[in-house]
Amino acid sequence: MIIFKKTRDLHKWLEAQRLAGISIGFVPTMGALHTGHLSLIESSIKANPVTVCSIFVNPTQFNDPKDFEKYPITIEKDIELLANAGCDILFLPSVKEIYPDELSPSLKYDLGYLERILEGKFRPGHFQGVCMVVHRLLEIVMPDNFYLGQKDYQQCMVIKKLIALIGLSNAILVNICPTLREPDGLAMSSRNVRLNEDERIKATAIFRNLSFIKENLTTGDLKGLKETAFRNLSEAGFNVDYIEIADANDLSIIDDWDGQKKLVALAAAFMTEVRLIDNILLN
Ligand code: AMP
Repeated sequence: MIIFKKTRDLHKWLEAQRLAGISIGFVPTMGALHTGHLSLIESSIKANPVTVCSIFVNPTQFNDPKDFEKYPITIEKDIELLANAGCDILFLPSVKEIYPDELSPSLKYDLGYLERILEGKFRPGHFQGVCMVVHRLLEIVMPDNFYLGQKDYQQCMVIKKLIALIGLSNAILVNICPTLREPDGLAMSSRNVRLNEDERIKATAIFRNLSFIKENLTTGDLKGLKETAFRNLSEAGFNVDYIEIADANDLSIIDDWDGQKKLVALAAAFMTEVRLIDNILLN
């Protein structure tokens, strides 16, 4: 595996591949890699002769400075995992390399409704930061195939919208990979290592309650079902931002189901200081 720290060097190397007609797969991450991340790398390796992974803890997407300070960093282990997985290129830029000028946004991405609901509502500015970094990374890597995890459902929709806004929908194919879970159902996440033993056990309530929604879904009014799931999650020790049912295609909130629309249940909640998110498709 080749490790690039400089944008110019990576860009030049990838340009040569592109000229040779080689397809490039790209998996952006914030490091502290786990099996979920590696499943994206694996998907990319299967479909592309060159797979690029980036590790960059993007300061502009953290609306909570404490979350940024405490974000786990395990770079030596990450390098080993990526090399063993067969990843070709690791891009490991500094903040200056990604944001040479300044950290404040130079562009406002028009994400519309997506920025006002769920993660957008509870993490103001978060998706603008995500768009800033992804826009920059896409300009540098210009992948043919882009790999994202369904674990960040709303982020996948935001990034698809970004790709359309910057006119790259025809150049880049977005591949959404399934959420990998621990045996007890907890979605794998870099933040899970911040949970103590007791919190780690309690954390399974997120997946349990998303599954509870799935098992008890009926046509008609959904408010009671959502309220029960919210209460269960609070009683399990979570400080809940939301547990919601939405249209899987556009994320509009569904309170009354016609029995036809494709639905997704999504949750975000704090176990003490650690904010966890998850989602499952319902039908
Ligand atoms: P992150 O390092 O958290 O920014 O995640 C990098 C990529 O890995 C994103 O596209 C995530 O959606 C994806 N990812 C994170 N957790 C999982 C998981 N448990 N299963 C599959 N993909 C994941």
